[in-house]
Amino acid sequence: MSFLPFTRPSIDEETIAAVADVLRSGWLTTGPNCKAFEEALSQYFGGRPVRVFNSGSITMEIALRLAGVGPGDEVITTPLTWVATANVILEVGATPVFVDADPATRNIDLSKIEAAITTKTKAIIPVDLAGLPVDRDQLYAIADHHKLRVVEDAAQSFGASWHGRKIGSTGDFVSFSFHANKNLTTGEGGALVLPGDIDPALCERLRLQGVRRFPDCGMDVDVLGGKANMTDIAATIGLGQLKHIDQFTTRRRELAKLYFQHFDTLALPGLELPPRDFDNCNWHMFQPLLPMYGNEGTNRGAFIAAMKERDIGVGVHYPALHLFSLYRARGCKEGDFPVAEDIGRRTVTLPLFPAMQDSDVDRVVAAFGEAMTANLRFTS
Ligand SMILES: *Cc1c(COP(=O)(O)O)cnc(C)c1O
Repeated sequence: MSFLPFTRPSIDEETIAAVADVLRSGWLTTGPNCKAFEEALSQYFGGRPVRVFNSGSITMEIALRLAGVGPGDEVITTPLTWVATANVILEVGATPVFVDADPATRNIDLSKIEAAITTKTKAIIPVDLAGLPVDRDQLYAIADHHKLRVVEDAAQSFGASWHGRKIGSTGDFVSFSFHANKNLTTGEGGALVLPGDIDPALCERLRLQGVRRFPDCGMDVDVLGGKANMTDIAATIGLGQLKHIDQFTTRRRELAKLYFQHFDTLALPGLELPPRDFDNCNWHMFQPLLPMYGNEGTNRGAFIAAMKERDIGVGVHYPALHLFSLYRARGCKEGDFPVAEDIGRRTVTLPLFPAMQDSDVDRVVAAFGEAMTANLRFTS
């Protein structure tokens, strides 16, 4: 049986041919296809302005700059996310302030945000972990009440929605990643949905060295910008992906439902399944939490190795980031955010991508049962 990775992009032949056309055209970098991709995304998000970038990390960093976040400011976020979410706060010279995860949603615990707000708080970066949206009504009630900007880290929630409203179609800044593992990919890339008070032309200057061009071919630089523009090669992949996004999300939801059916039947003791949401969540990932064996931990390494022996790829997304050396050096320590730490120690990401067959789910769950019972005997 062939190896089943935890994710794999679905790129159709039409997209491959369109990329070949770009390669033959002589215009590879930012050009007409980036513009077309931005327009298509804007239409998808109900007409809001959208700009594209070469990563979802730089997208968030530019959003923070546009929001006026810098040295001396605090930004509230979750420690249970890809480290980029916190790193971009440091990149703009601000201070990340972590709020623990909610054990039910695994997203930032909204009930704990207000206690973390100080006079220095400028913004909140909520993260839709695994594509499960943070409660947008509660989030914006808090942000509006305290006059805070929001940069939604929607890297994982393209195609998800909040009670019928597409993620990206409402809210303040909304940032997406098109990394190869995301639900919509351009290989590498990102997009930012802009709020009404932000000038898209300034966003474009921050994306490319601050350059402002004039009709007479002259130029000026009046703001420090970086190098964050998307190529037309990447945009062409994105245009091809966007045509299938609804179908991708539908298939992911079907596969997630199948996982629940199989796991419910198997009823593995101590195993904790993800929140069951089939309306809002885009099922970017399917992540059960392994049981803890006393204080011995989960034996996650042995579990992943046992799955690999059975030709199944398992990922870990993510260990709580405040325990990385960079953040420990800034004063974070074990016990600061117990919910995020617990989830971060126990989480495993099972294969879930649109091209998977129903029988692949059977295979994963059968292997999961074997790997858990045969390889996870605790030693103490
Ligand atoms: C992927 C991801 C990012 C960063 O996106 P890149 O395109 O890899 O820079 C940020 N936050 C979260 C939650 C992600 O999953």
